[in-house]
Amino acid sequence: MNDKLIQKHCHTCGDQLNTWDARISKSLGYTNPLCENCVAKEYDKTVEELREVFESFFDMRPCMGI
Ligand SMILES: [Zn+2]
Repeated sequence: MNDKLIQKHCHTCGDQLNTWDARISKSLGYTNPLCENCVAKEYDKTVEELREVFESFFDMRPCMGI
C-alpha cells in the first residue's frame, strides 16, 4: 500500500491529507475529511493507538514511510 498525498486538506488543521487519512475519514463517515492527527484527538488517542484500532477493525495498514 502506498499512501500518497491527495489534493485535500484537513478540515481542522489544514494539513494536506494522504490516502490513509482519506480512508480513515471515509470509514468514520466524516463529511469533511480530517488528518489522522485530528481524528486521533477526537477519539482521545495517539496516532499509534488510532492506527492499531484501524488495523484491527478495518484490516488496514498505513505505509510505514509516513
Ligand atoms: Zn488535521
